[in-house]
This record gives sequence, C-alpha cells and structure tokens, in this order.
Amino acid sequence: MAVNLLDFDADGLTAWFAQQGEKPFRARQVLRWMHQSGEGDFNAMTDIAKSLREKLLTEAVVTPPPVISDKLSDDGTRKFLFDVGNGNAVETVFIPEDDRGTLCVSSQAGCALECAFCSTGRQGFNRNLSTAEIIGQLWQANRALGRVAGGERIISNVVLMGMGEPLANFDNLIPALRLMLDDHAYGLSRRRVTVSTSGIVPAMDRLAEACPVALAVSLHAPTDGLRDKLVPINRKYPLAELMAACQRYLHHAPRDFITFEYVMLDGVNDRDEDARALLHLVRDVPCKFNLIPFNPFPDSGFRRSPADRVRRFATHLIEGGIVTTTRKTRGDDIDAACGQLAGKVLDKSRRVIRAVAGKPTATELHS
Ligand code: SAH
Ligand code: SF4
Repeated sequence: MAVNLLDFDADGLTAWFAQQGEKPFRARQVLRWMHQSGEGDFNAMTDIAKSLREKLLTEAVVTPPPVISDKLSDDGTRKFLFDVGNGNAVETVFIPEDDRGTLCVSSQAGCALECAFCSTGRQGFNRNLSTAEIIGQLWQANRALGRVAGGERIISNVVLMGMGEPLANFDNLIPALRLMLDDHAYGLSRRRVTVSTSGIVPAMDRLAEACPVALAVSLHAPTDGLRDKLVPINRKYPLAELMAACQRYLHHAPRDFITFEYVMLDGVNDRDEDARALLHLVRDVPCKFNLIPFNPFPDSGFRRSPADRVRRFATHLIEGGIVTTTRKTRGDDIDAACGQLAGKVLDKSRRVIRAVAGKPTATELHS
C-alpha cells in the first residue's frame, strides 16, 4: 500500500527516503513542497528529478482527511468538518483575532476521558487520529485560508483544543507538533503552539522531553472532591501530582507560566470560596487563568455562570495576583465554541449510553 507522506515529520521522511535510496536533501525538498507550499501532487513538484517523482507516484501519497463541510460564522470563526473514515468526523475551528489567527485542532475521534461538561466526552471514544489526520487539518485549513498580502500565513497559532485528549495520543501527536515547529514545514515558534491537556501527568513529563510547546491545563475545580467528578482522570492523577507536574514542565516550557483553563459552571465551581481555594492551590505554580463560560449542549445538565459571576470570579483571582482572562464565546451560531465540537463519532465502546445514563446533576456534584 502507498505510504502517506503526511504521516512523517522531517526525521521520519528522511528515514523513508533513505530506504528508497534517496538523499536527505530530497526529503527536505518534498517536505517544503508539501507543508510550505501545500502541494499534494508530486507532478507539480517541479524541481524534483522526474525519476524520483515517478517513484513517489507509485510508492507514496499525500492524503489529508477530506473536508466534509466548511462553515463561516457571522463573527469570522470558520469551522471545518473532516471525514476520518468509518462514519467518523472531527472538527477544526479557525478563530481570527486582530493580532493573530488561531487554528483549534482535534487529536482524537471522540474522547475516552468523559469530562462531565464536555460534548466530545459525552460521545465516547472511537480512535486516535494519525499524524496525517492531525497535521492534515492544518494543511487543509492553510490551503483554504491562504496568506495575507505580505506572504505570511493567516494561521499564526495552533492550539490542540479541539476534539480529544492530545496527550492520550502521544505517539501520533509528537511528529505533528514537530512539523508545526519545523522551519521547512510550518515554522511556528514553540510559544505559538499550545497543547491543552486534562492532566495526564506522565505524558506531560514526556512532552517536556520530546517537544516542549506551550501548555494549557484544564483545571476546572479547586479540590479533588469536585475535580474527581468533573474531570474523572483526576482520580488517577490528583491535584497535588498535577501541580507538581506543572512545576516540572515549566523547566522546559517556552513560556514561563502554565495556562489554567477553567470552565465556569453555574453553582458548581464558580463561588467565591472556589476562587479562594484556587489561589491557594496554585500558589507555587506561575500561571495565568483563562475562564471559559460553559457552552451548553443538549442534556448537558449544566448551566453557564452568569456574566457578573464570571466577572466577580475573575476579579477575585486578579486581586490574588493572577493574570486572568475570560474567553469570548465565538462561533456560537455554527456550534464551533469550546466543548461543543461534536463531529460525528461512532462510539466503539458504547460509552455514550453509559455516560448519559450516569450523568451527575449539579447538586450531586457538591454532595
Ligand atoms: N482534551 C483536552 C483538549 C480539548 S478540550 C482538554 O481537556 O484540555 C479544550 C477545552 O475546552 C478544555 O479546557 C475543556 O475542558 C473545555 N471544554 C470542554 N467542554 C466545554 C464546554 N461545554 N464549555 C466550555 N468549555 C469546555
Ligand atoms: Fe476529553 Fe478534553 Fe472533553 Fe475532557 S474536556 S472529555 S479530556 S476532550
């Protein structure tokens, strides 16, 4: 079967070229064609020797996941839906801002971690995306969005905050991250690539060694009691271990802080005492907070905290000395906001049914 060259980072491609008896500089040329120029047709790679092009045509392909739909929101947010086979689809969202353009990329079809307030988690898990499917989202979005007049790419930042837990798909994630950083591919700085994790502690340490990019940690609760219920992976890696892992990560990180994401759930984790407990929890971790107003989805069982509650919570953290921002909800009209990414996933494990049946209520969460 033909090899998909989007599955390789620079080292992988060089190794594959070596197996074909080709020099490393040929691999670099093809890497640049694929990722800098967005070229998927070997015949169009004009400075490659014809004999090599012919070999590539028989041995290899450049196959990103196909686009099923491409929707533009009133606020400029753009949502792509990609076919990842067997009836599964994943979503990728482009968010334009004044000073940057951020692409929010998916890492898995579904997610096995079942966070209580997350629509992806509610659907259950189907499978890990391949490296080609992860980098292919950026490849396709770059082709669709293009460059600004000066030649720079519209996409300046990538966040692994779409569907799935990126650190649960470590081996396929790393080559994709390396391509994002590679000057012969997308050439993004480490600060402009962010992995968001629900807190898989051993994988955070591995990321620090393999490819230290900016890190966002989905905190969502100040105590183990509440976090065990909202983010079940906390039962395996509780807060004390998570805070220690954040401190270790900072020795390698391109930024000198961790971003803590905190979804604001009405009456669940948004009280003054929660803000106070958070200040105590993170006292030894240089960090910023990003408050995310909960984005509802059918039968979620949660409500978004009122705007004045979110403001009060933010003020509390700021007065405690922590830089705190509140995420603007964007792309609402096309269901592209955080946690609403649903794609369409056939759950191999039938988790959907279990999760819906066992859904906790806000009162139970405090019991
Ligand atoms: N699995 C990773 C990355 C994907 S989720 C993680 O959990 O960090 C990206 C962010 O969206 C996480 O902070 C997640 O907790 C948050 N999120 C999930 N569901 C949400 C919802 N319904 N409303 C607002 N944010 C949500
Ligand atoms: Fe998975 Fe992240 Fe959703 Fe939790 S919030 S279920 S880790 S995608």
